[in-house]
Amino acid sequence: MLDSLIRFVRDQYRTDEFIPLHAPVFAGQERNYVSDTIDSTFVSSVGAYVDRFERDMGAYTGSPRAVATVNGTAALHIALQLVGVKSGDLVITQPLTFVATCNAIAYCGAEPVFVDVDRHTLGLSPAALEVWLDDNAWIDDEGVCRTRDTNQVVRACLPMHTFGHPADLDGLLEVCSRWKLALVEDAAESLGSFYKGRHTGTLGVVGTLSFNGNKIITTGGGGMILAGETLGIRAKHITTTAKQPHPYEYVHDEIGYNYRLPNLNAALGCAQLEQLEAFIANKRTLAARYADHFSGSDFQFVTEPADCRSNYWLNAVICDSREQRDTLLKATNEKGVMTRPIWALMNHLPIYAHCRKGDLTQAEWLEARVVNLPSSVSTSVTTI
Ligand SMILES: *Cc1c(COP(=O)(O)O)cnc(C)c1O
Repeated sequence: MLDSLIRFVRDQYRTDEFIPLHAPVFAGQERNYVSDTIDSTFVSSVGAYVDRFERDMGAYTGSPRAVATVNGTAALHIALQLVGVKSGDLVITQPLTFVATCNAIAYCGAEPVFVDVDRHTLGLSPAALEVWLDDNAWIDDEGVCRTRDTNQVVRACLPMHTFGHPADLDGLLEVCSRWKLALVEDAAESLGSFYKGRHTGTLGVVGTLSFNGNKIITTGGGGMILAGETLGIRAKHITTTAKQPHPYEYVHDEIGYNYRLPNLNAALGCAQLEQLEAFIANKRTLAARYADHFSGSDFQFVTEPADCRSNYWLNAVICDSREQRDTLLKATNEKGVMTRPIWALMNHLPIYAHCRKGDLTQAEWLEARVVNLPSSVSTSVTTI
């Protein structure tokens, strides 16, 4: 099985060299647009490509506002501030995520609460969310959700669309609305993924994207905040040093951030976004081939949830056991085919081990079994 998997992956990329998990592809106007910024001298924090990247991303996702940031973590930090997360608050999230999700909560002086994921979406479970709230929270006279023991505010809920597969957003929206929680979506991995026809990151109050080098499109480093008009305008203000518009005076009306995406990076982003649908078509074909390859085996390939279109950013397979997982990791990595286990659960990191948590049976089950497989745009598929 493992020999045939290695052969299968090598066939997809038609190479005997090392095969990474996810490499960027620059097959469009990248060089032209980046050269443009150099010729214009506008390489830094303002420029036409920043405006265009925000407009294009707003149009693609259907978000009324899209605000570019220096990376996805910064976008999350601001998104949480936009919904009022403050020092001492709690934010409910999933333990099965990249550390940036939790770090952004910590930057606000708040603390994550870990609630279990669904096995089929790999995203935050509405049922587990409800159980934790029923057991631990109440809603005060002002309609604020608080913990029963310490009376701390539970301000927001922050699901993450794991590997590009949308979480159960209808379920989460329903629980959040009943418990007065702001839904913020960490859509860092799910650019191009739609839930019932709507782009991930646009169903909650705010959503965020990442354009790090390993994501489906890259700006080198970068991120985006997706929001409605009012919060979007506020996001732009506080990510650009909170400067009041004026022809020459410097008036900053609050302590803002320099979280701007440089024009140089936005130029790369504009060129990448033009190729996004071609990348996704390619990756969906690759995913279908993986699914075929694993069908009938004791490995379970992760496929998109019902009523969703996933971008299949990172392909994943669920092994039978931790032992089988370790065998797969060793065999593939030794042969120059890069595979990786899913992240260690956030509650297993010493920095977040003290945080509150619910029952994490599914997350722990997945932690022991999920392996990511090479997922770059495939040279053997002809869409790109
Ligand atoms: C990539 C990623 C981020 C943001 O990462 P940056 O490197 O700061 O752009 C946040 N959350 C998740 C789940 C991610 O995968």
